[in-house]
Amino acid sequence: MNLQDTFGSLVFNDAVMRQRLPKETYRALHRTIAEGKSLNPQVASVVANTMKDWAIEKGATHYTHWFQPMTGITAEKHDSFLSPIEGGGAIMEFSGKELVRGEPDASSFPSGGLRATFEARGYTAWDPTSYAFIKDGTLCIPTAFCSWGGQALDKKTPLLRSNEALNRQVKRILRLLGHPDVKKVTATVGPEQEYFLIDRDLYSKRKDLIFTGRTLFGARPPKGQELDDHYFGNLKPRVAAFMREVDEELWKLGVSAKTEHNEVAPCQHELAPIFTTSNIATDHNQLTMEIMKRVAAKHGFACLLHEKPFAGVNGSGKHNNWSMSTDTGLNLLEPGETPAENAQFLLFLVAVIKAVDLHQDLLRISVASAGNDHRLGGNEAPPAIISMFLGDELQAILDAIEHHSAYIAGEKMDMNIGVTTLPRIPKDTTDRNRTSPFAFTGNKFEFRSPGASMSIAEANVVINTIVADVLMGFADQLEAAVDIRATVEQLVVDTITNHKRIIFNGNNYAEEWKKEAQERGLLNLPSTPDALPYLITDENVALFERQRVYTRQELHSRYDVQLENYCKVISIEAHTMLDIVNKEIIPAISAYSGNVARNGADKRRLLPDVEPVYEQKLLRRLTGLINEIGAHNEALHEAIQALDDLPADPLAQARHCRDCVFKRMQELRALADEAESIVDEKLWPFPGYGELLTTK
Ligand code: ADP
Ligand code: MG
Repeated sequence: MNLQDTFGSLVFNDAVMRQRLPKETYRALHRTIAEGKSLNPQVASVVANTMKDWAIEKGATHYTHWFQPMTGITAEKHDSFLSPIEGGGAIMEFSGKELVRGEPDASSFPSGGLRATFEARGYTAWDPTSYAFIKDGTLCIPTAFCSWGGQALDKKTPLLRSNEALNRQVKRILRLLGHPDVKKVTATVGPEQEYFLIDRDLYSKRKDLIFTGRTLFGARPPKGQELDDHYFGNLKPRVAAFMREVDEELWKLGVSAKTEHNEVAPCQHELAPIFTTSNIATDHNQLTMEIMKRVAAKHGFACLLHEKPFAGVNGSGKHNNWSMSTDTGLNLLEPGETPAENAQFLLFLVAVIKAVDLHQDLLRISVASAGNDHRLGGNEAPPAIISMFLGDELQAILDAIEHHSAYIAGEKMDMNIGVTTLPRIPKDTTDRNRTSPFAFTGNKFEFRSPGASMSIAEANVVINTIVADVLMGFADQLEAAVDIRATVEQLVVDTITNHKRIIFNGNNYAEEWKKEAQERGLLNLPSTPDALPYLITDENVALFERQRVYTRQELHSRYDVQLENYCKVISIEAHTMLDIVNKEIIPAISAYSGNVARNGADKRRLLPDVEPVYEQKLLRRLTGLINEIGAHNEALHEAIQALDDLPADPLAQARHCRDCVFKRMQELRALADEAESIVDEKLWPFPGYGELLTTK
């Protein structure tokens, strides 16, 4: 395989456009992509026609508007290029209108009440900033999905709006700092995707994995991740073959999958792409998840993207590496080499610090889901408390700035901003702070809280918006300032002083951190129902409206959708548990009890002088367990039923799911796991953790 020929071979990218489009059309489209200028219909027609010819040459027969409804996965509805013509026969057609706008029959996607039934047909609108591509013989056109009233029904629309917000505010700052040439600023994102690979035959024997993506039962195996012997270990041949094929498939789609290695937990791995714009990175991450699942099946694996597939084993996240860059090639979080660059770097750095401190709630909400709560709210890093890590060197620099003192790094330096040069800030290579939710890693921030199965759209909507909002305040001050340099210095010092409580360089995993964070006044929102009410506070509504990212109505719809989704996930899990307990676990324990009882009776008959003490004891324990499991099963059933009697308020429902349904699920699980640890394994109805986690 020739990588150069393969990479992007199924993408209608800039090179293809330049080659195939008439010069004028190319230039017009390029302006739209690069500068956000609107596109006229004639240009769209020419692009559509060229796109169609290219796609047909590549073997495509259909096209689809590819979009990302609030479910968090992608949706597509395929239409054929074929148009019948009068007198029989057909031609291949694809008009500008069909490229630009689609009307999926999408009334069953969640809208949180935004789409009254009379306007149930939302529409999809072409997003020319993410390239079209061919998947399974279908030309996929990345689109935004809105209601006829213009409200966002998807994850892309707010992401595009938040990019615009960031672009607006950063440009104001850059203009003041001597970069009038910058036309466009984009958020750059590189999401590192964690996942588990387990044997498909074993997977297919577990209803819990099939229906819910995670194990709802499972006794601890004798060996888990204690030895850390999996991390960066050798890849097994079947895994290596899987990774190679994933890479190849992704490269064709223009996704620059770059590194793969084993993760901490057994059977856990990671894939990282080279970063790109937050919009394209979001689309690419959706494709990555889809391709990984599909290729896994071909190699006899199931790819688990759930945040916590196995209790007692590390869960999977998605590290969202984020920075801002200009069309002139500047990374705004790259420490500079000249005094002016330093001041600029520090200004953007403290803007992010302030944004994270002020909007911990929104960052937490952006990663809230029933699945991810197992990581964030459980005994695992990162915790639900949002804090930041800067690394020793940068921390020392900020301390010095705050106290107007000298910073010493090998040589003595005068740390007045703008006077001297900052040392290169080394990447934190020690890996010592893998526990921090929001870490500075040399020239970007890494937000580590997103869950493995989520779209990264929401996290980036929030980061873009909150940073834009802080920069808006900075720009207002700087535009009114007489001495810009002095004002920048003052802003940097004031911001560090006022927001340093968000910085925590210690172990986020530690129990003491919870106490200290509380003393610092940081938020701790362990579960989704704890976090979601913050989404619709007046303050947050005002913030999103000010930055033109969400309207009040849109926020309320997302609040509803996210809470409803939380309840749905927990209900499905609870129903799956009931099913497995009734049809598989109780029968298995019964069968084993029967064997034990028969053995005891046989012994007593053959050896009347020896009491079958062991059988008696075991039988008593098994009988006790069945009784308890039966009772807890009923209690869980009642907890689910009680949902129907609650008011229709999604928050009340979600709280009930957390406090009642989920709690009972855990009690039931503990009993079933105890049974698993004593029942004859030949009778246990599905493969246990030991077997699942030693897939070769
Ligand atoms: P590590 O593996 O130590 O976390 P890497 O340098 O391999 O660090 O980067 C991890 C991810 O961060 C990759 O996806 C990479 O493309 C991305 N990344 C690097 N620089 C930037 C940037 N300026 N903006 C956004 N993402 C970035
Ligand atoms: Mg990383």
